[in-house]
Amino acid sequence: MRAPRLVAAVIAALCWLWVGIATASGFPDFDPDRERVLHGRALPKQSPVAGDADLIGPWAEHDGQLDLGSEEGTGNRFWLVKKGTRDVADGLVRARLSPGKRIDASVIFRAQAGTDLRELSGYELAFDVDGARLMRWDNGTVLPVGPALEIPRVQRAASLEVIIYLVGPQIIATVYDGDSLDRLGSLAVHETTYADGRVGFRAGKKAEAMRFGLLSAMDTRAPAPKAKGSGRYGSIKRYGLDADPGTTPFGNTRFVFIPNAAVRDLPGDLRRNVKSRLTADDGTRQAVVFTDTVGFERIKRAGVEVLAADSNVPWKTFDPDYRAQAAKGPVSTRRGFRLDLSYKNVDMVGAILRGYQEKYADISTLVELGRTHQGRPLWALKISDNPTTAESEPSVLLNGSHHASELLSVEYPLDAAAQILEGYGRDREVTRWVNGMEIWVVPMVNPDGNWMFLEESRFASRKNGRDTNLDGFHDPFEGIDLNRNYGFGWGKTPGSNGVTGSKYYRGPHPFSEPESWAMASLGDQQHFAASISFHTVGNAIFVPYTVGDTQTPDPNVPLVIAKQMEESGLEQPNGRFIKVRANGYPVSGSDQDWLMHSFGTAAYIVEGSHHNPSLEVRARAVEATRPLWRTLLGRVLTGPRISGHVRTADGAPVEATVHVKEIQLQAGERWTARARDGRFDRLVSRPGRYTLEASAPGFAPATVEVKVRGATAIDITLEPA
Ligand SMILES: [Zn+2]
Repeated sequence: MRAPRLVAAVIAALCWLWVGIATASGFPDFDPDRERVLHGRALPKQSPVAGDADLIGPWAEHDGQLDLGSEEGTGNRFWLVKKGTRDVADGLVRARLSPGKRIDASVIFRAQAGTDLRELSGYELAFDVDGARLMRWDNGTVLPVGPALEIPRVQRAASLEVIIYLVGPQIIATVYDGDSLDRLGSLAVHETTYADGRVGFRAGKKAEAMRFGLLSAMDTRAPAPKAKGSGRYGSIKRYGLDADPGTTPFGNTRFVFIPNAAVRDLPGDLRRNVKSRLTADDGTRQAVVFTDTVGFERIKRAGVEVLAADSNVPWKTFDPDYRAQAAKGPVSTRRGFRLDLSYKNVDMVGAILRGYQEKYADISTLVELGRTHQGRPLWALKISDNPTTAESEPSVLLNGSHHASELLSVEYPLDAAAQILEGYGRDREVTRWVNGMEIWVVPMVNPDGNWMFLEESRFASRKNGRDTNLDGFHDPFEGIDLNRNYGFGWGKTPGSNGVTGSKYYRGPHPFSEPESWAMASLGDQQHFAASISFHTVGNAIFVPYTVGDTQTPDPNVPLVIAKQMEESGLEQPNGRFIKVRANGYPVSGSDQDWLMHSFGTAAYIVEGSHHNPSLEVRARAVEATRPLWRTLLGRVLTGPRISGHVRTADGAPVEATVHVKEIQLQAGERWTARARDGRFDRLVSRPGRYTLEASAPGFAPATVEVKVRGATAIDITLEPA
């Protein structure tokens, strides 16, 4: 029986701590026949920690203590005992941490990791200046399991002593002041995902002058076999295709589905946790209770029938409006369609765009730009007079939902399409835009990610749902962040992440994804004069470049225009205004930077006011944001800008570089005329005299002076060199 031995060891450990010989002789009643010390100095003669570990980042060792060295960290640093020989399943892990100047670190246990330690799976007891929390890692993505433990004095302690007991699915962590041995608090969770693994430390990027010591890691049974799902405990299997039904690999919270009629039998406080009522496929009425593991146990003990318990539910579980609308076609109005009845999946967006295209066939055409990994279409609605002709007009782009869960970001471009189409012939400004420009609207750049969030998993937050590890299962932590996958600045850090489990995973190479590839192909074809990529939720207009250390053109015309957009904005439903943030945070591989660098596009990211608010707030948010895109479209059409064509003497288009001499380019930009018609559009910050410089291989460079007031046209003819 292993449990009594463990209890004895725990009691021994506590006694030992109590008499304060914390670094001396080890556990007095340690039984080497039945217990294994895997690491550290539970036996008096064993050498202290360090040396025998895999690591990432600078770690120095002094007298068996680890510290962070003097180098600044930029991301997580890991120190993990070597694979294979040191796995802990049941037993305990005992460690000391010195908070130093700033605590940001964790003790890792039951961890699995390949060559890249950042793609960890397992558990950690994580500390920050507020206290501690148990967390679970799944292939590099970390989520809390259980509540946080506030430790008001944690940063003031000279050292902390940590003991983590592992008994099957029970994980109990206790934190002591390392000098006084006062107990500062305990955390406990019931977590069945990972049965065994390595021990170690993680230091976060905020950690400063911390020190670490692994005192011991004891195991009271042989580590579970490595094979997936063949753990010694019948019910403990790792997350994967062969996970037991009903296991909840995503944390401590659960959605418990019960018959609707059983709500009255719930314990009183849990009745208040009923989050949704819905009709199942078999017609039964169900209620969904959101609760934790303890609440789940109480529901079962109250005799309430549990139909299902799942942590990984989709958005639709809680959105009856979406469920109702998804089952129907779009609802017509006199001039268009109701857009305010629900949030929308790709099928609904496609149906609405098709409906609009049919109503406004003389000024719109529906284009499928490409297909996703899972075969969903990427819809674009082109709005212009003579829509099926590629005219020589400035092109602009409005897109949404690069990110899976940003449902509101679909609504802004859809609303814009509706406003423009329904306003044509009625609103003079709109009519001029449609006649004078080609307006491309792509409401949903990420249909697979959006589908996963709405229909499969609330954990699909940003990425495109690609089956990155090719195991045949679309895991919500898999996929690529499409707005880190564009070519300019791709791969730079900070600003993106190369770890597949990261929310900001940039993909294996630039434009690796069909969605970003399709958007880039459209960009290549159109050389957009301006674009907005809608997102949530920062109340911000981001101006290129967002990748760190990249010099913007001088003057930065998109910044000048962004301020005009900002000034036009209305109060958002949260009482705030959308503000320009020139350098919000570093982002690399975004659509806006790539468009700006490739074509000189005044390319923006507009982050709306809310993340998927109620429909009433949605309507107000969409309305309050209209002036931003209206200002931009008006600014492109009326200028000041310089537009024209580069052609040979006999009229053939030349894909020449066309630069405005007064705009100093500082990042290697080569802004060319369009291949198909030699057209270029250069926005300038103010009216005045400008010099255009055009050059192309095989031709003599040409310089043209131009006086710019509004939209100013100038054609350039290149002679052979
Ligand atoms: Zn976003």
